[in-house]
Amino acid sequence: MGGTFDPVHYGHLVTAEVARAKFLLDLVVFVPAGIPPHKKGIKISQGTDRYMMTVLATVSNPFFKVSRAELDRPGPSYAIDTVEYFCTTFDKGTEIFFITGADAAVEILTWKDAKDLLKKCGFIVATRPGYSTGELKGHLKEAKLYSTHCIYTVEVPALAISSTDIRRRVKQGEPIRYLLPRNVENYIYKTGLYCPNKITE
Ligand code: NAP
Repeated sequence: MGGTFDPVHYGHLVTAEVARAKFLLDLVVFVPAGIPPHKKGIKISQGTDRYMMTVLATVSNPFFKVSRAELDRPGPSYAIDTVEYFCTTFDKGTEIFFITGADAAVEILTWKDAKDLLKKCGFIVATRPGYSTGELKGHLKEAKLYSTHCIYTVEVPALAISSTDIRRRVKQGEPIRYLLPRNVENYIYKTGLYCPNKITE
């Protein structure tokens, strides 16, 4: 499950759980992106904070794990490197699915070594309610030409929640309760994340 997770929220957690149940996955590994390749020049929170929040959010679910693979790898976080890492980490023959959001997956054919990537893992692409799937379907249809695995899309109503909206809410002093786990909310307030003028202890 790849994402920037800045911050992780219930939309991500529901997506992971829906994917786990629907596709009978043994494990969902959350992989916070180190340096997202398409976000050069865009300010994102420190990897340590995004990792900590993801651990806090997933700690109570034995089927969820968090990996530092991309955070500890220098350079841009390409999905191909991450999937190759997991291919060597898991038992031989393990089937891997890359779970991510539709806005990221729509550009999948522009990702580094996309054709190789599509031969190494399946994809589970989560869409938000109201997301217009026309463009996505076109891109995924083309991606399927190179893929030797399955590419699924799932609509996840909880993805009406977005990290961008949560960051904006914190900055403007609006509530974020019930959008993300309470311990992640506490972490955000304790550290002053997304609130540049806040003085932390
Ligand atoms: P993003 O641009 O921050 O997010 C795109 C959209 O997808 C946002 O609406 C986001 O919602 C949603 N989203 C992201 N991750 C999700 C998830 N796991 N489950 C459900 N919705 C999700 O994209 P990103 O997070 O940086 O990238 C997503 C993944 O694609 C990462 O693992 C990244 O490394 C990979 N990627 C790889 C390449 C490459 O290899 N060249 C290029 C681009 C992306 P929220 O903002 O609410 O999360």
